[in-house]
Amino acid sequence: MSADIVDLAIVGAGPAGLAAACEARKWGMSVAVLDEQPATGGQIYRAVDAASPHRLSVLGEDYAAGMELTRAFAMSGAQHLPGAAVWNVGRDLKVNFVRQSVNEALQARRIILASGAMERPFPIPGWTYPGVMGAGAAQILFKSAGALPSQPVVLAGCGPLLYLLANQYLQAGVELKAVIHTTQQSDYVRASSHVFGALRGWRDLRKGMRMLAQLRRHRVPVYAGAQALAIQGNERAEAISFIYKGQLHRIKSALILLHQGVVPNTQLSWSLGAKHRWNDAQLCWEPETDDYGQLEDSGIYVAGDSRGIVGAKASASQGRLAAIEIARRLGCGDRETRDNRETTVRKELASQLHIRPFLDALYRPPTAHRIPQDDAVVVCRCEEVTAGQIRKYADLGCQGPNQTKAFGRCGMGPCQGRLCGLTVTELIAEARGVTPGEVGYYRIRPPIKPVTLSELAG
Ligand SMILES: Cc1cc2nc3c(=O)[nH]c(=O)nc-3n(C[C@H](O)[C@H](O)[C@H](O)COP(=O)(O)OP(=O)(O)OC[C@H]3O[C@@H](n4cnc5c(N)ncnc54)[C@H](O)[C@@H]3O)c2cc1C
Repeated sequence: MSADIVDLAIVGAGPAGLAAACEARKWGMSVAVLDEQPATGGQIYRAVDAASPHRLSVLGEDYAAGMELTRAFAMSGAQHLPGAAVWNVGRDLKVNFVRQSVNEALQARRIILASGAMERPFPIPGWTYPGVMGAGAAQILFKSAGALPSQPVVLAGCGPLLYLLANQYLQAGVELKAVIHTTQQSDYVRASSHVFGALRGWRDLRKGMRMLAQLRRHRVPVYAGAQALAIQGNERAEAISFIYKGQLHRIKSALILLHQGVVPNTQLSWSLGAKHRWNDAQLCWEPETDDYGQLEDSGIYVAGDSRGIVGAKASASQGRLAAIEIARRLGCGDRETRDNRETTVRKELASQLHIRPFLDALYRPPTAHRIPQDDAVVVCRCEEVTAGQIRKYADLGCQGPNQTKAFGRCGMGPCQGRLCGLTVTELIAEARGVTPGEVGYYRIRPPIKPVTLSELAG
């Protein structure tokens, strides 16, 4: 085990973690950034430094812009620990991680958790069939390995990433059989009350319009306001069915990419026993922090999408803000310079957040695609627990996700509830007739990543 002590340890080398590291280095702190991925960039800028000119042009200028951040980080003097899977963060400010099959520990004076987001589960009939995957997962394959579908694809669901991937695929020459989106008239009405905020974030709005225009130009069939999505097949995906304008439709496809937004990856903050609240606009849990992202008075901060979904630019600003506050706490730099810097970053952050309420309202995933109405739908993929079984547990008196573990091992597989946690919370809340906030979440305990006994012993 390493006996290093650093001023600041950061978990996650995405926009939040990289920006925090660059900021902290400017204030003279020693910084170590740990990430399980082999390169910096996080989800949005994944593998950006190694991307070929073709891949850069397909993924677009927002992706290529990430190089500014990854290069600034490389020059910052912060230590980068790639391939480091963090399995525990303690209140003693120690980080435990496995790297190249060796278990190591790092002691820090302060910690920032910048572990980002993950795709929201999409528990509809047939979602576990081979041939069905997340749109984000498909994009990861392209960013990291240049892998593209060799067959026509159907994209279904809602959220900006769905349209972004559709556009990237068009640019790469992938045939899109259809884009089926679930945004209803009622979502537009709800979003319209946030239209002024959206207009202040006009650049993002314009980008969204361009993506839709691109689909029209390529004559991609778009089914707007679809409902009751289901995957059909015999052992693997063969088609997707849905209701469109009151009629049942069925489109044959062996590859169906689903997406209905991203949610914070909160495993680390839960494992610390921190308080979390249910965010009803984003339909997910988020850690309770102070204005700088600190969990109580713990010396541990959360920045970026793992604190609540804000997008890449605001994630970077939150990372900077946490680093400025840590500089203040550790006595780095002078007060006036720090205060001025904080004012600038807060202004940037506020302007980056203008569009968020509009996006949250417009792309609110439909209830039927979050809480399976069909009892046969598998919710916990690791332990193969169905929606019907969870409803039965609730009938028998099960109060929340944590108790489902005792009833039927739900959430006890290798993903530690990451893929089923939100669905189980909402299912039980519906069955009990209470709010998700009252139902709670799994009790997450370290190791939050699978660690072998030999790695621990080593
Ligand atoms: C699959 C996916 C694809 C996306 N694609 C886009 C896109 O193309 N365009 C866009 O605008 N937005 C995209 N987003 C949203 C975007 O990721 C975020 O808005 C932005 O990247 C958030 O930045 P972040 O620094 O908070 O987290 P991230 O960029 O997600 O970075 C978090 C990092 O933490 C690391 N990490 C997490 N847990 C651990 C652990 N226990 N140990 C070690 N490392 C850990 C991860 O490997 C990751 O590199 C995507 C999101 C997802 C989930």
